[in-house]
Amino acid sequence: KRLVALGGGESGVGTAILAKKKGYDVFVSDNGPIQQKYKDVLKNFGIDWEENQHTEGLILNADVVMKSPGIPDTVPLVIKLREKGIAVISEIEFAAQYTDATIIGITGSNGKTTTTMLVYQLLKDGGLHVGMAGNIGDSFAQMVAENDFDYYVLEISSFQLDGIEKFRPHIAIITNITPDHLDRYSYTFDNYIASKFRIVENQTSEDYLIYDADDEVLVAWLKSHPVKSKELPFSIEKIVEEGAYIENEDIQINTQNKKITMKSNTLALEGKHNLKNTMAASTAAKLVSIRKETIRNCIENFQGAPHRLEKVLKIHHVQYINDSKATNINATYYALDSMSSPTVWIVGGTDKGNDYKTLMPLVREKVKAIVCLGLDNSKIKDAFGNVVDLMVETFAMDEAVKVAYKIAERGDTVLLSPACASFDLFENYEDRGNQFKEAIKNL
Ligand code: ADP
Repeated sequence: KRLVALGGGESGVGTAILAKKKGYDVFVSDNGPIQQKYKDVLKNFGIDWEENQHTEGLILNADVVMKSPGIPDTVPLVIKLREKGIAVISEIEFAAQYTDATIIGITGSNGKTTTTMLVYQLLKDGGLHVGMAGNIGDSFAQMVAENDFDYYVLEISSFQLDGIEKFRPHIAIITNITPDHLDRYSYTFDNYIASKFRIVENQTSEDYLIYDADDEVLVAWLKSHPVKSKELPFSIEKIVEEGAYIENEDIQINTQNKKITMKSNTLALEGKHNLKNTMAASTAAKLVSIRKETIRNCIENFQGAPHRLEKVLKIHHVQYINDSKATNINATYYALDSMSSPTVWIVGGTDKGNDYKTLMPLVREKVKAIVCLGLDNSKIKDAFGNVVDLMVETFAMDEAVKVAYKIAERGDTVLLSPACASFDLFENYEDRGNQFKEAIKNL
């Protein structure tokens, strides 16, 4: 059988390695350049590849095609493949066919990475033989090819879910759903929601869906699209019968007729959103029988991922926080919400069709000054020009940090939470966050 991987990045190369191991005739095709490190790997495994082109004669004879999540369904080659009746699937679909391990799949608009890392840590602390893969970095397929884990914790994007057929996680977590990536979903929010919910489509009554019961979009969708799996909602606003909730400042997790209780005010990760991520992850851990003491200890000591409300330094009693990963409004909403001192807010970048209305009350309450950081700051100026007392435009990170430093007074916080993509001035959000940290150290 012939497998063609469209896209020579992490998922394409990982899939190629697994397919080769399983005896497929494998070919990798990328219409752009392939990074040297991936070419080296392909060479090592004796896998053929091409770059900067798609040669149809080498692709249309495939039995199965793995499409990298970056390639839209509307690309003519993909349409042609489908017309010919060739299966076009995603990496997680292919890889899952070759493992019997228990899969915990995490999707949602925000909080995927944090929740994935936390679930992984909880299972590891519990002594389980567990791997972490997917959107978060390492290829799931390559991990299946090279390891024999009993559990996989996978961060899964909607694009990966678009290419599934039988993929069935035993535990699915949907952290929340807010508009994002709509350019890939015909600008229709329902299409994007449906895509996220494909994570449950092959689940049975033996499987679980953990979701945010305070998220109106999720709750409304579930009402009109019932699922087969057992629902375990988590909520910080109300008490749920089965699932996780807050009572007297304690987290209560009630599943499988057993309740465990943990303090909510000694968590390592701060902010309401992280309380939710912690509840979701702990519920998953409880389902795979991690002990209460292990869960407690882990969530009180967990080191969060960089660029997500990451505390950088305190200088002259001013706390600097790096939330560069906040590339949409909802993520920034939670960042501002968790600020407990007057905030100098560095915001801006490549606009994704942002509507800043929802941030208005928080900005009024918490923000003393705005430092705009982007090539085009017009939307931010329009939205907040009359709301804050002081607004300064900057066009480079070191300039933005110097300006914030001058404005901030003892007890204040300087928060980088851009609510925008980073591509106007930076390579990616990591580059943006790293430049922020570097500029702070240079102050
Ligand atoms: P993702 O992998 O889904 O992008 P991350 O864990 O990397 O999620 O967090 C992305 C951004 O969203 C960060 O700025 C973080 O502070 C914020 N965030 C994290 N969890 C949540 C949540 N449950 N709801 C809203 N925002 C969140």
